[in-house]
Amino acid sequence: MKKGTATVVKHTGSHYLLSELPAWELFPAVVRGRIRLKGSGNTNPIAVGDVVDYSIEDGEAMGAIDAIHPRRNYIIRRSTNLSREAHIIAANVDCVWLIVTMQFPEVKLPFVDRFLVTCEAYGVPVNILVNKRDIDNEYSLALLKVFREIYEEQAGYNVIEVSALTGENIDVVREACKGRINLFSGVSGVGKSSLIKAIDPKLSYIRTGELSTAHLQGKHTTTFYEMHPVASGGFIIDTPGIRSFGLLDFEKEELSTYFPEMLAVMDGCRFKPCTHTHEPGCAVKRAVEDGRIAPERYNSYLGMLEDQTKYR
Ligand code: GDP
Ligand code: ZN
Repeated sequence: MKKGTATVVKHTGSHYLLSELPAWELFPAVVRGRIRLKGSGNTNPIAVGDVVDYSIEDGEAMGAIDAIHPRRNYIIRRSTNLSREAHIIAANVDCVWLIVTMQFPEVKLPFVDRFLVTCEAYGVPVNILVNKRDIDNEYSLALLKVFREIYEEQAGYNVIEVSALTGENIDVVREACKGRINLFSGVSGVGKSSLIKAIDPKLSYIRTGELSTAHLQGKHTTTFYEMHPVASGGFIIDTPGIRSFGLLDFEKEELSTYFPEMLAVMDGCRFKPCTHTHEPGCAVKRAVEDGRIAPERYNSYLGMLEDQTKYR
């Protein structure tokens, strides 16, 4: 019998495909026997990115998954906002790349904020790619300036301008993907598949694009996520049809800690904990008034706070 440790790179429905990363030599495995799993509310107990112990009997092709290693992080999707049931999109992600465009389609800041908060809550590093940089009309450039001010200068995120069309800064992204498990996400039309193809032309087969909403919101969706090897090094997980990730449950008081520019000043709030809404002597509200925190970000915060109360 052969025993080893490998990473789940694909779930086909009937079995899993494993590989001992960084090597890319796939072999099938099933879950045999009982594995004690945390978070039994998940529709898939084992996800792409999970590191597992496996064994293969001599003379057999199909391996068995014997144990799952503890996850560094994981990203879920809920079938609905109210749903307790969650689908794990990926585990042990090193870097999330959020792709946006200033125009065609125009970026929606509340969406960006929800996305970033989710990554913060999961403890997954996130970078922002502004694609279609080649579209440099006045409107796009003005919006880009505001976008950079909010997300790079104030919130402290890495904002990289790229163009899948001209190849601008693709080498930077390619380099950053090396040795990591990268998850690419963005709304339909931002150029997600074009970017992945620019990073590695061999990956042009990846099916991106959004699935129909009806399909996505169905209770028994069968979207199987998959990891792909990048020729220059590293791995990409594409998230077809994902508008946003499901937020884990969090306490009201926690939410502002997922906004880096709020976290940076909230120590100065008179009340602790402070929800930064009605409390006097609130350092966050003061920073909004001073222009150190963008009103757009603060409004997103209030919106998410309200949702959290509503869905609880
Ligand atoms: P996806 O839905 O996010 O996978 O987006 P696609 O890769 O299918 O791209 C959507 C549209 O944007 C297509 O018409 C692409 O040709 C176009 N596109 C993608 N990247 C760029 C870019 O960097 N610049 C320009 N001008 N168009 C782009
Ligand atoms: Zn406060």
